[in-house]
Formats: sequence, structure tokens, C-alpha cells
Amino acid sequence: MKDFHCRDVGMNCEFVARGDATEEVLAQTERHAEQVHHMKVTPELEEKMRWLIHDDSSDAHRESVKRNS
Ligand SMILES: [Zn+2]
Ligand SMILES: [Zn+2]
Repeated sequence: MKDFHCRDVGMNCEFVARGDATEEVLAQTERHAEQVHHMKVTPELEEKMRWLIHDDSSDAHRESVKRNS
């Protein structure tokens, strides 16, 4: 399972998008950014989000969870 933590882009937000594929997580994240944060997802932002999506068994995930708690 892959996921994306909204807080990893500097938002004060608990949202975590989850999915089996990067594209799936990205689609959820984009919807969330637009609906909740009223952010326009530019190609640059999408690239940044893509970079921050990680596997939920990775060290990066453990770091994100630690940061979020
Ligand atoms: Zn958020
Ligand atoms: Zn994670």
C-alpha cells in the first residue's frame, strides 16, 4: 500500500491518501488539495506530491507518522 501525508507538503492537516498505485494516491491527493485547501494542482506541485508518495512499509512512512503525532 502506498500513501501520501498532506502534512509532508507543509499543511497543518491530518489527511493521508492511500492506494495500491501511485496514480491512485495522486488522484485522491489532488482531489483533497482542491476541495479542502482550494489549491490548484500545478505540474510542479504534482511532481512534488509524486515524490512524497511512499510505501507504508518504508522508513519515509515511519518518519511521516512520527512527525504527524
Ligand atoms: Zn490536507
Ligand atoms: Zn506514509
